[in-house]
Amino acid sequence: MQKPSHVLVLNCGSSSLKFAIVDPRDGRALLSGIGESLGESTPRISWKCEGRKNQQPLEQRSGHTAVIHFLVEQILSQQPALKTDLTAIGHRVVHGGEKFSHSVLIDQAVINAINECSALAPLHNPAHLLGIEAAAKAFPELPQIAVFDTAFHQSMPRHAYIYALPYSLYRDHGLRRYGMHGTSHRFVTERAAEILNLPLNEINLISAHLGNGASITAVKNGQSVDTSMGLTPLEGLVMGTRSGDVDPGLLMHLGNHLAFPIQQINSLLNKESGLLGISELSNDCRELEEAAEKGHTGALLALEIFCYRLAKYIASYYVPLGDVDALVFTGGIGENSSVIRQKVIDYLGGLGYRLAVERNLQARFGEEGPISADHSPMTLVIPTNEEWVIARDAAALVPPDTPNHDALTRE
Ligand code: ADP
Repeated sequence: MQKPSHVLVLNCGSSSLKFAIVDPRDGRALLSGIGESLGESTPRISWKCEGRKNQQPLEQRSGHTAVIHFLVEQILSQQPALKTDLTAIGHRVVHGGEKFSHSVLIDQAVINAINECSALAPLHNPAHLLGIEAAAKAFPELPQIAVFDTAFHQSMPRHAYIYALPYSLYRDHGLRRYGMHGTSHRFVTERAAEILNLPLNEINLISAHLGNGASITAVKNGQSVDTSMGLTPLEGLVMGTRSGDVDPGLLMHLGNHLAFPIQQINSLLNKESGLLGISELSNDCRELEEAAEKGHTGALLALEIFCYRLAKYIASYYVPLGDVDALVFTGGIGENSSVIRQKVIDYLGGLGYRLAVERNLQARFGEEGPISADHSPMTLVIPTNEEWVIARDAAALVPPDTPNHDALTRE
Protein backbone atom coordinates (compact mmCIF):
# COMPACT_ATOMS: atom_id res chain seq x y z
CA MET A 1 0.00 0.00 0.00
CA GLN A 2 1.18 3.53 -0.74
CA LYS A 3 2.65 5.44 2.19
CA PRO A 4 0.70 8.63 2.98
CA SER A 5 2.50 11.95 2.93
CA HIS A 6 1.16 15.20 4.29
CA VAL A 7 1.94 18.89 4.62
CA LEU A 8 1.71 20.98 7.78
CA VAL A 9 0.14 24.29 6.72
CA LEU A 10 0.81 27.27 9.00
CA ASN A 11 -0.87 30.66 8.84
CA CYS A 12 0.66 33.00 11.41
CA GLY A 13 -1.23 36.23 12.11
CA SER A 14 -0.23 38.96 14.53
CA SER A 15 -2.00 37.31 17.48
CA SER A 16 -3.10 33.97 16.03
CA LEU A 17 -1.65 30.86 14.43
CA LYS A 18 -3.83 28.58 12.32
CA PHE A 19 -2.47 25.12 11.59
CA ALA A 20 -3.64 22.19 9.50
CA ILE A 21 -2.23 18.89 8.32
CA VAL A 22 -3.38 18.55 4.75
CA ASP A 23 -3.18 15.81 2.14
CA PRO A 24 -1.86 17.66 -0.93
CA ARG A 25 -3.53 15.20 -3.31
CA ASP A 26 -7.14 15.89 -2.31
CA GLY A 27 -7.02 18.84 0.11
CA ARG A 28 -8.37 16.77 3.01
CA ALA A 29 -7.42 18.20 6.43
CA LEU A 30 -6.53 15.43 8.89
CA LEU A 31 -6.04 17.91 11.71
CA SER A 32 -6.83 21.61 11.96
CA GLY A 33 -6.66 24.14 14.73
CA ILE A 34 -5.88 27.64 15.89
CA GLY A 35 -3.92 29.35 18.65
CA GLU A 36 -5.63 32.64 19.51
CA SER A 37 -5.05 35.76 21.63
CA LEU A 38 -1.31 35.07 21.45
CA GLY A 39 0.84 37.42 23.49
CA GLU A 40 -2.25 38.44 25.46
CA SER A 41 -3.45 37.56 28.95
CA THR A 42 -5.63 34.55 28.04
CA PRO A 43 -4.21 32.76 24.99
CA ARG A 44 -5.82 29.45 24.04
CA ILE A 45 -5.56 26.70 21.51
CA SER A 46 -8.36 24.71 19.90
CA TRP A 47 -8.12 21.89 17.38
CA LYS A 48 -10.12 19.28 15.55
CA CYS A 49 -8.91 15.80 14.72
CA GLU A 50 -10.95 12.80 13.51
CA GLY A 51 -14.17 14.77 14.09
CA ARG A 52 -13.33 15.48 17.76
CA LYS A 53 -13.04 19.10 18.93
CA ASN A 54 -10.65 20.07 21.74
CA GLN A 55 -9.72 23.30 23.46
CA GLN A 56 -7.16 24.25 26.07
CA PRO A 57 -5.82 27.46 27.61
CA LEU A 58 -2.15 28.30 27.06
CA GLU A 59 0.13 29.98 29.57
CA GLN A 60 -0.29 33.73 29.92
CA ARG A 61 1.39 35.69 27.05
CA SER A 62 2.23 32.50 25.12
CA GLY A 63 3.23 33.27 21.54
CA HIS A 64 3.62 31.48 18.21
CA THR A 65 6.47 29.28 19.47
CA ALA A 66 4.28 27.98 22.31
CA VAL A 67 1.55 26.96 19.86
CA ILE A 68 4.00 24.98 17.72
CA HIS A 69 5.45 23.45 20.86
CA PHE A 70 1.96 22.40 21.99
CA LEU A 71 1.23 20.99 18.53
CA VAL A 72 4.33 18.79 18.65
CA GLU A 73 4.36 17.83 22.35
CA GLN A 74 0.65 17.49 23.09
CA ILE A 75 -1.21 16.89 19.85
CA LEU A 76 1.15 15.07 17.48
CA SER A 77 2.61 12.97 20.30
CA GLN A 78 -0.88 11.38 20.59
CA GLN A 79 -1.00 10.88 16.81
CA PRO A 80 2.53 9.74 15.92
CA ALA A 81 1.54 8.69 12.39
CA LEU A 82 0.53 12.25 11.57
CA LYS A 83 4.02 13.43 12.49
CA THR A 84 5.98 10.71 10.71
CA ASP A 85 3.96 11.21 7.51
CA LEU A 86 4.83 14.91 7.30
CA THR A 87 6.92 15.85 4.27
CA ALA A 88 6.93 19.64 4.30
CA ILE A 89 5.71 22.77 6.04
CA GLY A 90 3.84 25.34 3.95
CA HIS A 91 3.56 28.88 5.28
CA ARG A 92 1.01 31.43 4.18
CA VAL A 93 2.93 34.69 3.79
CA VAL A 94 0.88 37.86 3.27
CA HIS A 95 3.39 40.09 1.51
CA GLY A 96 6.09 39.14 -0.95
CA GLY A 97 6.31 42.59 -2.55
CA GLU A 98 7.71 42.39 -6.07
CA LYS A 99 10.21 39.75 -5.04
CA PHE A 100 7.97 36.68 -5.35
CA SER A 101 5.62 35.75 -8.17
CA HIS A 102 5.61 32.06 -7.14
CA SER A 103 5.90 29.95 -4.02
CA VAL A 104 9.48 29.21 -2.93
CA LEU A 105 11.52 26.89 -0.76
CA ILE A 106 12.54 28.93 2.29
CA ASP A 107 16.25 29.65 2.79
CA GLN A 108 18.09 32.54 4.44
CA ALA A 109 17.71 34.74 1.33
CA VAL A 110 13.93 34.19 1.36
CA ILE A 111 13.78 34.97 5.09
CA ASN A 112 15.69 38.21 4.44
CA ALA A 113 13.32 39.11 1.61
CA ILE A 114 10.20 38.46 3.74
CA ASN A 115 11.77 40.66 6.40
CA GLU A 116 12.41 43.42 3.84
CA CYS A 117 8.70 43.32 2.89
CA SER A 118 7.70 43.84 6.55
CA ALA A 119 7.21 47.57 6.05
CA LEU A 120 4.38 46.71 3.63
CA ALA A 121 2.69 44.26 6.05
CA PRO A 122 3.88 45.24 9.53
CA LEU A 123 1.31 43.11 11.37
CA HIS A 124 1.80 39.97 9.31
CA ASN A 125 5.30 39.47 7.91
CA PRO A 126 7.08 39.63 11.30
CA ALA A 127 4.59 37.03 12.61
CA HIS A 128 5.31 34.78 9.61
CA LEU A 129 9.02 34.98 10.41
CA LEU A 130 8.34 33.93 14.01
CA GLY A 131 6.37 30.96 12.69
CA ILE A 132 9.11 29.99 10.24
CA GLU A 133 11.75 30.12 12.97
CA ALA A 134 9.67 28.12 15.43
CA ALA A 135 8.75 25.51 12.80
CA ALA A 136 12.39 25.12 11.75
CA LYS A 137 13.32 24.36 15.36
CA ALA A 138 10.43 21.92 15.87
CA PHE A 139 10.82 20.12 12.53
CA PRO A 140 14.49 20.54 11.55
CA GLU A 141 14.30 17.69 9.01
CA LEU A 142 11.40 19.18 7.01
CA PRO A 143 11.69 21.69 4.17
CA GLN A 144 9.65 24.88 4.60
CA ILE A 145 7.87 26.57 1.71
CA ALA A 146 6.46 30.11 1.54
CA VAL A 147 3.23 30.74 -0.38
CA PHE A 148 2.55 34.45 -0.88
CA ASP A 149 -0.85 36.17 -0.92
CA THR A 150 0.57 38.75 -3.31
CA ALA A 151 2.20 36.31 -5.77
CA PHE A 152 -0.82 35.65 -8.01
CA HIS A 153 -1.19 39.40 -8.65
CA GLN A 154 2.38 39.90 -9.83
CA SER A 155 1.08 39.41 -13.38
CA MET A 156 -0.88 42.70 -13.21
CA PRO A 157 0.20 45.21 -15.88
CA ARG A 158 1.80 48.47 -14.77
CA HIS A 159 -1.24 50.53 -15.69
CA ALA A 160 -3.25 48.48 -13.17
CA TYR A 161 -0.80 48.71 -10.28
CA ILE A 162 0.78 52.18 -10.45
CA TYR A 163 -1.01 54.83 -8.37
CA ALA A 164 -1.44 58.28 -9.94
CA LEU A 165 1.09 59.69 -7.47
CA PRO A 166 4.61 61.02 -8.08
CA TYR A 167 6.35 58.10 -9.79
CA SER A 168 9.30 58.39 -7.40
CA LEU A 169 7.12 56.96 -4.61
CA TYR A 170 6.95 53.73 -6.58
CA ARG A 171 10.57 53.81 -7.77
CA ASP A 172 12.13 54.70 -4.42
CA HIS A 173 9.70 53.18 -1.91
CA GLY A 174 7.78 50.44 -3.74
CA LEU A 175 4.44 52.20 -3.15
CA ARG A 176 2.08 50.55 -5.65
CA ARG A 177 -0.93 48.26 -5.71
CA TYR A 178 0.01 44.66 -4.79
CA GLY A 179 -3.31 42.96 -4.11
CA MET A 180 -4.00 40.19 -1.58
CA HIS A 181 -6.07 36.95 -1.33
CA GLY A 182 -4.03 35.72 -4.31
CA THR A 183 -4.01 32.14 -3.06
CA SER A 184 -7.81 32.07 -2.96
CA HIS A 185 -8.24 33.77 -6.35
CA ARG A 186 -5.77 31.29 -7.81
CA PHE A 187 -7.62 28.33 -6.31
CA VAL A 188 -11.00 29.36 -7.72
CA THR A 189 -9.43 30.15 -11.11
CA GLU A 190 -7.99 26.64 -11.36
CA ARG A 191 -11.22 25.08 -10.13
CA ALA A 192 -13.40 27.17 -12.49
CA ALA A 193 -11.25 26.03 -15.44
CA GLU A 194 -11.92 22.41 -14.41
CA ILE A 195 -15.67 22.97 -13.92
CA LEU A 196 -16.06 24.82 -17.23
CA ASN A 197 -13.69 22.46 -19.02
CA LEU A 198 -11.58 25.33 -20.34
CA PRO A 199 -7.78 25.46 -20.59
CA LEU A 200 -6.38 27.37 -17.60
CA ASN A 201 -4.38 29.70 -19.84
CA GLU A 202 -7.52 30.70 -21.76
CA ILE A 203 -10.01 31.33 -18.97
CA ASN A 204 -11.33 34.85 -18.21
CA LEU A 205 -12.95 35.29 -14.82
CA ILE A 206 -14.14 37.79 -12.27
CA SER A 207 -13.36 36.24 -8.89
CA ALA A 208 -15.09 37.78 -5.85
CA HIS A 209 -13.62 36.60 -2.53
CA LEU A 210 -16.07 37.83 0.11
CA GLY A 211 -15.12 37.02 3.69
CA ASN A 212 -14.39 39.35 6.60
CA GLY A 213 -11.81 40.76 4.22
CA ALA A 214 -13.05 41.02 0.65
CA SER A 215 -11.40 41.49 -2.71
CA ILE A 216 -12.22 40.99 -6.35
CA THR A 217 -9.86 40.03 -9.15
CA ALA A 218 -10.00 40.20 -12.94
CA VAL A 219 -8.36 37.06 -14.33
CA LYS A 220 -7.40 37.06 -18.02
CA ASN A 221 -6.03 33.90 -19.63
CA GLY A 222 -5.65 32.41 -16.14
CA GLN A 223 -3.63 35.36 -14.77
CA SER A 224 -4.54 38.25 -12.50
CA VAL A 225 -4.72 41.50 -14.49
CA ASP A 226 -6.41 43.69 -11.87
CA THR A 227 -7.56 43.38 -8.28
CA SER A 228 -9.32 45.60 -5.77
CA MET A 229 -6.87 45.53 -2.85
CA GLY A 230 -3.87 47.79 -3.18
CA LEU A 231 -0.74 48.62 -1.24
CA THR A 232 -2.63 47.31 1.78
CA PRO A 233 -5.81 45.25 2.25
CA LEU A 234 -7.76 48.46 2.93
CA GLU A 235 -8.40 49.44 -0.68
CA GLY A 236 -11.37 48.28 -2.71
CA LEU A 237 -14.60 46.65 -1.60
CA VAL A 238 -16.60 47.34 1.55
CA MET A 239 -15.50 44.70 4.10
CA GLY A 240 -16.53 43.53 7.57
CA THR A 241 -14.77 46.35 9.41
CA ARG A 242 -12.71 48.01 6.62
CA SER A 243 -13.98 50.95 4.62
CA GLY A 244 -12.58 49.97 1.22
CA ASP A 245 -12.23 52.89 -1.21
CA VAL A 246 -12.70 56.39 0.26
CA ASP A 247 -11.76 59.85 -0.95
CA PRO A 248 -8.16 60.35 0.24
CA GLY A 249 -9.22 63.94 1.03
CA LEU A 250 -11.28 62.45 3.84
CA LEU A 251 -8.09 61.53 5.69
CA MET A 252 -6.86 65.12 5.58
CA HIS A 253 -10.25 66.30 6.77
CA LEU A 254 -10.21 63.88 9.69
CA GLY A 255 -6.70 65.00 10.62
CA ASN A 256 -6.97 68.73 10.02
CA HIS A 257 -10.54 69.54 10.96
CA LEU A 258 -11.50 66.83 13.43
CA ALA A 259 -7.99 66.49 14.96
CA PHE A 260 -7.90 62.70 14.62
CA PRO A 261 -4.36 61.38 15.24
CA ILE A 262 -3.03 59.03 12.55
CA GLN A 263 -3.44 55.95 14.78
CA GLN A 264 -7.10 56.75 15.27
CA ILE A 265 -7.61 57.21 11.53
CA ASN A 266 -5.93 53.84 11.00
CA SER A 267 -8.20 52.14 13.51
CA LEU A 268 -11.30 53.93 12.16
CA LEU A 269 -10.69 52.80 8.58
CA ASN A 270 -9.56 49.24 9.40
CA LYS A 271 -11.57 48.26 12.45
CA GLU A 272 -14.60 50.52 12.83
CA SER A 273 -15.84 50.95 9.26
CA GLY A 274 -17.32 48.68 6.59
CA LEU A 275 -20.43 46.67 7.45
CA LEU A 276 -19.89 47.34 11.16
CA GLY A 277 -19.46 51.09 10.76
CA ILE A 278 -22.46 51.60 8.51
CA SER A 279 -24.85 49.29 10.37
CA GLU A 280 -23.73 50.31 13.88
CA LEU A 281 -24.60 46.71 14.67
CA SER A 282 -22.18 44.05 13.44
CA ASN A 283 -19.48 43.11 10.93
CA ASP A 284 -21.05 39.67 10.56
CA CYS A 285 -23.07 39.24 7.39
CA ARG A 286 -25.34 36.56 8.90
CA GLU A 287 -26.29 38.83 11.80
CA LEU A 288 -26.95 41.71 9.41
CA GLU A 289 -29.16 39.59 7.19
CA GLU A 290 -31.24 38.57 10.20
CA ALA A 291 -31.51 42.18 11.40
CA ALA A 292 -32.33 43.42 7.90
CA GLU A 293 -35.19 40.95 7.69
CA LYS A 294 -36.64 42.56 10.81
CA GLY A 295 -36.26 46.01 9.20
CA HIS A 296 -33.08 47.27 10.94
CA THR A 297 -32.27 50.34 8.84
CA GLY A 298 -28.52 50.27 9.52
CA ALA A 299 -28.27 46.62 8.48
CA LEU A 300 -30.33 47.25 5.36
CA LEU A 301 -28.11 50.17 4.35
CA ALA A 302 -24.86 48.30 5.06
CA LEU A 303 -25.88 45.32 2.89
CA GLU A 304 -27.07 47.61 0.11
CA ILE A 305 -23.80 49.56 0.00
CA PHE A 306 -21.77 46.33 0.15
CA CYS A 307 -23.62 44.92 -2.87
CA TYR A 308 -23.77 48.14 -4.87
CA ARG A 309 -20.03 48.75 -4.54
CA LEU A 310 -19.25 45.14 -5.41
CA ALA A 311 -21.48 45.27 -8.50
CA LYS A 312 -19.71 48.44 -9.67
CA TYR A 313 -16.34 46.67 -9.39
CA ILE A 314 -17.67 43.66 -11.32
CA ALA A 315 -18.91 45.89 -14.15
CA SER A 316 -15.59 47.75 -14.25
CA TYR A 317 -13.67 44.51 -14.80
CA TYR A 318 -15.23 44.17 -18.23
CA VAL A 319 -12.66 46.84 -19.18
CA PRO A 320 -9.56 44.65 -18.71
CA LEU A 321 -11.34 41.41 -19.66
CA GLY A 322 -13.64 42.05 -22.61
CA ASP A 323 -15.10 38.55 -22.60
CA VAL A 324 -15.90 36.95 -19.24
CA ASP A 325 -16.29 33.16 -18.97
CA ALA A 326 -17.65 33.32 -15.42
CA LEU A 327 -18.25 35.42 -12.35
CA VAL A 328 -17.23 33.44 -9.27
CA PHE A 329 -18.40 33.94 -5.67
CA THR A 330 -16.21 32.57 -2.89
CA GLY A 331 -15.28 33.24 0.78
CA GLY A 332 -17.68 32.88 3.73
CA ILE A 333 -20.19 35.39 2.31
CA GLY A 334 -19.73 34.47 -1.36
CA GLU A 335 -20.13 30.75 -0.63
CA ASN A 336 -23.12 31.04 1.69
CA SER A 337 -25.14 34.19 1.26
CA SER A 338 -27.85 33.83 -1.38
CA VAL A 339 -29.13 37.24 -0.26
CA ILE A 340 -25.89 39.05 -1.12
CA ARG A 341 -25.46 37.17 -4.41
CA GLN A 342 -29.01 38.00 -5.46
CA LYS A 343 -28.64 41.70 -4.62
CA VAL A 344 -25.33 41.96 -6.51
CA ILE A 345 -26.75 40.25 -9.57
CA ASP A 346 -29.85 42.49 -9.46
CA TYR A 347 -27.52 45.48 -9.90
CA LEU A 348 -25.96 43.76 -12.94
CA GLY A 349 -29.19 43.20 -14.89
CA GLY A 350 -28.01 45.72 -17.48
CA LEU A 351 -25.17 43.34 -18.37
CA GLY A 352 -27.61 40.45 -18.77
CA TYR A 353 -26.95 38.79 -15.39
CA ARG A 354 -29.80 36.77 -13.89
CA LEU A 355 -29.75 34.03 -11.28
CA ALA A 356 -31.54 30.69 -11.19
CA VAL A 357 -33.38 31.40 -7.92
CA GLU A 358 -33.48 27.82 -6.59
CA ARG A 359 -29.86 27.08 -7.48
CA ASN A 360 -28.80 30.29 -5.73
CA LEU A 361 -30.73 29.37 -2.58
CA GLN A 362 -29.21 25.89 -2.50
CA ALA A 363 -25.59 26.98 -3.00
CA ARG A 364 -24.24 27.05 0.57
CA PHE A 365 -22.26 25.02 3.10
CA GLY A 366 -19.62 23.89 0.63
CA GLU A 367 -21.86 23.36 -2.40
CA GLU A 368 -20.15 24.13 -5.69
CA GLY A 369 -21.59 24.91 -9.08
CA PRO A 370 -23.44 27.30 -11.40
CA ILE A 371 -26.19 29.54 -10.03
CA SER A 372 -26.94 31.58 -13.17
CA ALA A 373 -30.17 31.36 -15.14
CA ASP A 374 -30.00 29.79 -18.59
CA HIS A 375 -28.79 32.17 -21.31
CA SER A 376 -27.34 34.65 -18.80
CA PRO A 377 -23.62 35.14 -18.04
CA MET A 378 -22.16 32.14 -16.17
CA THR A 379 -22.09 32.69 -12.41
CA LEU A 380 -20.46 30.10 -10.16
CA VAL A 381 -20.13 29.44 -6.45
CA ILE A 382 -16.79 27.81 -5.62
CA PRO A 383 -15.79 27.18 -1.99
CA THR A 384 -12.20 28.30 -1.63
CA ASN A 385 -9.46 26.14 -0.11
CA GLU A 386 -6.29 28.16 0.47
CA GLU A 387 -4.77 25.41 2.65
CA TRP A 388 -4.95 22.99 -0.26
CA VAL A 389 -3.08 25.41 -2.55
CA ILE A 390 -0.40 25.86 0.12
CA ALA A 391 -0.12 22.09 0.60
CA ARG A 392 0.08 21.49 -3.15
CA ASP A 393 2.74 24.15 -3.69
CA ALA A 394 4.74 22.87 -0.72
CA ALA A 395 4.54 19.27 -2.00
CA ALA A 396 5.68 20.37 -5.46
CA LEU A 397 8.75 22.14 -4.04
CA VAL A 398 9.96 19.41 -1.68
CA PRO A 399 13.58 18.58 -2.57
CA PRO A 400 14.09 14.97 -3.70
CA ASP A 401 16.31 14.04 -0.73
CA THR A 402 13.53 14.79 1.83
CA PRO A 403 12.05 11.91 3.87
CA ASN A 404 8.67 10.78 2.39
CA HIS A 405 9.39 12.57 -0.91
CA ASP A 406 8.65 9.42 -2.92
CA ALA A 407 5.18 9.14 -1.46
CA LEU A 408 4.36 12.64 -2.68
CA THR A 409 5.27 11.95 -6.26
CA ARG A 410 3.59 8.52 -6.53
CA GLU A 411 -0.09 8.61 -7.37
P1 ADP B 1 -12.37 35.32 6.93
O1 ADP B 1 -12.07 36.43 5.98
O2 ADP B 1 -12.21 35.71 8.37
O3 ADP B 1 -11.74 33.99 6.58
P2 ADP B 1 -14.84 34.01 6.14
O4 ADP B 1 -14.43 33.71 4.74
O5 ADP B 1 -14.99 32.88 7.08
O6 ADP B 1 -13.93 35.14 6.80
O7 ADP B 1 -16.23 34.80 6.05
C1 ADP B 1 -16.86 35.31 7.19
C2 ADP B 1 -18.16 35.99 6.75
O8 ADP B 1 -18.99 35.02 6.10
C3 ADP B 1 -18.95 36.57 7.90
O9 ADP B 1 -19.43 37.85 7.55
C4 ADP B 1 -20.12 35.60 8.03
O10 ADP B 1 -21.27 36.21 8.53
C5 ADP B 1 -20.30 35.21 6.57
N1 ADP B 1 -21.12 33.99 6.48
C6 ADP B 1 -20.79 32.73 6.84
N2 ADP B 1 -21.85 31.89 6.68
C7 ADP B 1 -22.89 32.65 6.20
C8 ADP B 1 -24.24 32.39 5.82
N3 ADP B 1 -24.77 31.18 5.92
N4 ADP B 1 -24.97 33.43 5.36
C9 ADP B 1 -24.44 34.66 5.27
N5 ADP B 1 -23.17 34.97 5.60
C10 ADP B 1 -22.41 33.99 6.06
